[in-house]
Amino acid sequence: MEYIPVIGLEVHVQSKTETKMFCACSTRFGEKPNNNVCPICLGMPGMLPVINKKGVELAIKTSLAINCKIEPLNQFARKNYFYPDLPKGYQISQYDLPIATGGYIDIGLEGAKKRIGITRLHMEEDAGKLIHGDGGDQNSYVDLNRAGVPLMEIVSEPDMRSSEEAKEYMTRLKEILEYIEVSDCNMEEGSLRCDANVSVMPVGSNTFGTRAEIKNLNSFRFMQKAIEYEIERQIEILEDGGRIIQETRLFDSAKGITISMRSKEEAHDYRYFPEPDLQPIVVKNSWVEEIRKELPELPEAKRQRFISEYSLSEYDVGVLSSSIALGDYFEKTVSKYNNPKASSNWIMGEVLRLLKDGNINVADFNVTPERLSELLVMIEEGKISGKMGKAILEDMAKENKTAQEIVEEKGLAQISGKDDIAKIIDEVIASHPQEAEDYRGGKDRLFGFFVGQVLKASKGKANPQTVNELLKEKL
Ligand SMILES: [Zn+2]
Repeated sequence: MEYIPVIGLEVHVQSKTETKMFCACSTRFGEKPNNNVCPICLGMPGMLPVINKKGVELAIKTSLAINCKIEPLNQFARKNYFYPDLPKGYQISQYDLPIATGGYIDIGLEGAKKRIGITRLHMEEDAGKLIHGDGGDQNSYVDLNRAGVPLMEIVSEPDMRSSEEAKEYMTRLKEILEYIEVSDCNMEEGSLRCDANVSVMPVGSNTFGTRAEIKNLNSFRFMQKAIEYEIERQIEILEDGGRIIQETRLFDSAKGITISMRSKEEAHDYRYFPEPDLQPIVVKNSWVEEIRKELPELPEAKRQRFISEYSLSEYDVGVLSSSIALGDYFEKTVSKYNNPKASSNWIMGEVLRLLKDGNINVADFNVTPERLSELLVMIEEGKISGKMGKAILEDMAKENKTAQEIVEEKGLAQISGKDDIAKIIDEVIASHPQEAEDYRGGKDRLFGFFVGQVLKASKGKANPQTVNELLKEKL
């Protein structure tokens, strides 16, 4: 039998706030264990949480960017469970009244657009971190620096049908989060991680199969591998006549397999109830509109605009819109050198290579868009060749100079003046009388020989087109 996978993602995003969600402790990563803690995030009895307004603001901003409806009344709830990294014995989260519902993200695979629904976005706090047997001892340690750090959980509809679609969804979501600057999205530090709900159903069926939830996937590659493994595993069980158990699984990245962790909890296992220490949040429409005004042009809108305004390919536009800074760099270049395709080629090729090799941010690049456009204009005017341009660009980046400065210092200007080239051609013909005679006698192949000799005599600076024209005249 043929099966179709059904995939939904729950993505946890750490909001970029200075302080935790319910206390004034720092959210800075990499501090000494248990340095960023206070009685509130340690869960001491009698302590009262206070909502971090910035955390709510970032959740609203994110909700708007993923086309969600902001709920004017939303509320925190207690999610009760025991775990050593959770000192209070409950996590403050949102349950039946999340801050936002009903959004979507458009993804495009091989030119075919698809809309992935978003069920909800809710706010919650992170738990601490357990460290087991560090250095071979038998102890377990807990670091509560992360306890209380603000998270947004973005829950998608089960709309994805392959691991590639899941990857595409994550890529688009991460791009949006980076554009609107609500999170640093650092997956290694756990700022962005996801749980994948995976099931399979026979082709033609409308009833979803029983799903397994794979927890804590912290890289795109692991997520894709885990989903692919899980699809295969479930199909194999069904083909053998077995049935899928609803459960929570972990991905073992070393072995590339998922392993059962525990049978899946239902919502009632968590005994949710409204957080009695916090008032419900009333979100005024005026506040939402204020935040909406701060949203930059979002990646999908930028891609559409780049395609229509600059007639670039989808591929080019995809690369150029990968960050706001790179898109700005491109547009500033084009504003001074009105050749979008050539600008795009140079940026996607040489500029990105230099940035990558030097591990430099585009904003810190010595070759500003103004400087790049000057270089490209010089190439177009034939003052330097494209090949020389690449070498000059490298020097510009290295030495923090303009193209004009490099060209003058190194005497690199291309010889395009006809008189100069004509003089070189005369010399070359005069010093190869035999070849010239043979050429005139019908040995056409020798033309290339003369072009080569002239370019060599000019040390590569002669404009090849002019050389060709003049040589034809003179021979
Ligand atoms: Zn604290």
